[in-house]
Amino acid sequence: MKKQSIAIDVVPMIEGLGGSTASEKNDDVELLLYNGLIRPRLLGLVPRARLPVIRELVRVLHRPLVRALQSFLDDSVGLRFETFEENQAFATEIQNLLNSLGLAAECPKEGCHHPAKIRCLNSGPRTGSFQFDHIIEGKRTTHLGSTRFPRFRVIPAPADRRQKANRPAEPSPSS
Ligand SMILES: [Zn+2]
Repeated sequence: MKKQSIAIDVVPMIEGLGGSTASEKNDDVELLLYNGLIRPRLLGLVPRARLPVIRELVRVLHRPLVRALQSFLDDSVGLRFETFEENQAFATEIQNLLNSLGLAAECPKEGCHHPAKIRCLNSGPRTGSFQFDHIIEGKRTTHLGSTRFPRFRVIPAPADRRQKANRPAEPSPSS
């Protein structure tokens, strides 16, 4: 998979942008969204009012990305490449996308539904096996090996250990 071709193909789909090359159009999206629409409004607010606005903006812009990824995953159900390496690269790329959006795969095993990482492991079949890899009750567990790309839902990823370490140790009893 050539990553660069993805960036070049997507942006020109947005009609009505002034730039003639993909990278000019890319710049236009940023200009329009941030510099053109958002920044002037943010700067019109007192500094302490800006943070909730930017937080809401990130939340709103995140949503269509999550939907696009879920739709791509739904369209990929049943997919299987010729070699283990290709299947593994596909699973790794999906997991990287999930990570970049703060998401996890919801393990579809009945009665489980824990947040998981999607992996393709070199076990069993020649082309590898797609599995849901998660920590359940402190133990690393994998569920549902399948040779074809499985159907699953994306859910928010749990806070990692580092984030937990930054939290106050004890919640105040009054809260
Ligand atoms: Zn599971």
